[in-house]
Amino acid sequence: MNKLLAGLLGVAMLPQLALAEDAPMSPLRPDQAAFRALYKELVETNTTLSAGSCTLAAQRMAAHLKAAGYPDSDIKLYSGPGHPKEGGLFAVLHGTSKTAKPILLLGHLDVVEAKRADWVRDPFTLIEENNYFYARGTSDMKAMTATWVDDMARFKQSGYHPKRDIKMALTCGEETAGAFNGAQWLAQNHPDWISAAFALNEGGGGRTDGHGKVMIQTIQVGEKTPQDFRVEATNVGGHSSIPIRDNAIYELSEALLKIRDYDFPLKMTDTTRSYFAKSGAALGDEDKMGAAMQQLAKNPRDKAAEAVVSSDRSYHSMLRTTCVATLLDGGHADNALPQRAGANINCRIFPGETVEQTRLALVKIVGDPKIKVTVGTTRGPLAEPPPLDPKVMGPAEKLVAKYFPTVPLIPVMSTGATDGVFLGAIGIPVYGAPGGWGDPDGNGAHGLNERRSTRSVYVGRDFLTDLVKTYADTE
Ligand SMILES: [Zn+2]
Repeated sequence: MNKLLAGLLGVAMLPQLALAEDAPMSPLRPDQAAFRALYKELVETNTTLSAGSCTLAAQRMAAHLKAAGYPDSDIKLYSGPGHPKEGGLFAVLHGTSKTAKPILLLGHLDVVEAKRADWVRDPFTLIEENNYFYARGTSDMKAMTATWVDDMARFKQSGYHPKRDIKMALTCGEETAGAFNGAQWLAQNHPDWISAAFALNEGGGGRTDGHGKVMIQTIQVGEKTPQDFRVEATNVGGHSSIPIRDNAIYELSEALLKIRDYDFPLKMTDTTRSYFAKSGAALGDEDKMGAAMQQLAKNPRDKAAEAVVSSDRSYHSMLRTTCVATLLDGGHADNALPQRAGANINCRIFPGETVEQTRLALVKIVGDPKIKVTVGTTRGPLAEPPPLDPKVMGPAEKLVAKYFPTVPLIPVMSTGATDGVFLGAIGIPVYGAPGGWGDPDGNGAHGLNERRSTRSVYVGRDFLTDLVKTYADTE
């Protein structure tokens, strides 16, 4: 998503805010100073899969909730069998309404690996420099996770009684494919704990122009479903000294080229239609891409507009299912005709389409009955597109207008994958909340020298606190 927004920001001509968003934060309010200590504690608790412990981080965050007055019955530390260091935390603040459904604050505790030797500063010491916090997890996503914990604690301490239950689920394993995944585990084992009208998660947020000005705020509404398929050609083979045209490697090659040349039909959801309309408007009618985006949102059958918008690889992927060859194997000896050749095809399925529909589409594209297309590794359930619900969008738009006058809130569908799919599968729509912001370069998330502007952390926290309270007080 960063790339996509960065592209948009490259040409956007939006009015600038009076106050630079990377201006220093001083002096801190007492509640901000207390939050800084909690954020520091969470960031400095190493939660990498290799050397860290989400369980320790969960215990430390639970201690804040206990100190704030939560009874033991409202706090649950959990870990999956065989994964003692990959634990998490669940907590609930009870609401006054008997009928209003809870809201859920979702956050992952784990971070991507970080090697001290490669970093300028120690990745597990929170260092404040040039109005930025530096350390692994400062951006992805301990600013938001710390905000959730701090909110839960302050709500309790202040005697705040929301209408809805406010639930919080902190999980491990989001950053490592194939690792124990806390969100998946909760959805499968304790759907009663986390049941909610909807959940707020990472995935949304603001982007600056790279010089401290917030240009755009986004809310993530939906994502595509990753799914692998295996395309395989087989043959009786034989001696390579007497070749024939009938050859598994050639057949597979032809099949792969057909997949390369095929564009799945254009699709739109409410989210992507709104995205293209609003992003296009932000780019302006003068801009070729901006005009085409707006036109396509109005009329998805406009082939000329589709061609312009699809020329951008990110937009291309937001408009359809995509499938691409990612791994290849074939043959068994230098001097033998191949008996087998296969490829992994990684698809990103558009919301509303199924795995089997996509497999059948591949069969048709390949158009060769000798080639088998089978379903490969499945990461999780099919992503359910959350509705563009005015009850969710309305308060978010109002707050963006209050905190960031002149900055648009744009709904985005991720072409990647998040933990949202596991909750979506049990009927909890997940929204990536706006509020905090990052820079167009991605702030080193997953990479070196990860950072977050101090103002983004503190203002983002105020924004999210207001947002949670608005949702929690509205049935
Ligand atoms: Zn993350």
